Amino acid sequence: MSIDQLAPGAMQAAIRDLEAPPPGSSCPAATQNEQLNLRNQEAATRDPRIQYRLADNPQSACGNCSAFDVSPRMSQCMPGETQDAGGRSGYCWTNSFKCQSARVCNAWARGGPIQDDKNSNDRQNRETQAPKAGPPEI
Ligand code: SF4
Repeated sequence: MSIDQLAPGAMQAAIRDLEAPPPGSSCPAATQNEQLNLRNQEAATRDPRIQYRLADNPQSACGNCSAFDVSPRMSQCMPGETQDAGGRSGYCWTNSFKCQSARVCNAWARGGPIQDDKNSNDRQNRETQAPKAGPPEI
């Protein structure tokens, strides 16, 4: 059975399971599972409460959001090209996907980006301990 065939509550539980770091890795699952990454990105784009999109104001974009992680450890979780038309790639702890610095969503919060491993680990610990609603269904 694929995750798409699960009932809504079971689907959210399954998605939360997928978000846990894979065994033997401290990287967020969406950095290691492109299908999960794209699913979470599409959900954040389509959900009117989130509206992941190109930023119209560079002062309020993913690149300076408190959820945007570009720490050395996270860069190792996302090898390959890190720059494209959407800016630099980083990991979004709020929406659980790889996002670009020149984009934004309605959950933008002042105080980013996360640039060092200690703050990255602290954020990961908070995210994995707190109950998460899971991404919206698409
Ligand atoms: S919460 Fe929104 S603005 Fe912040 S990094 Fe994630 S997608 Fe970008």
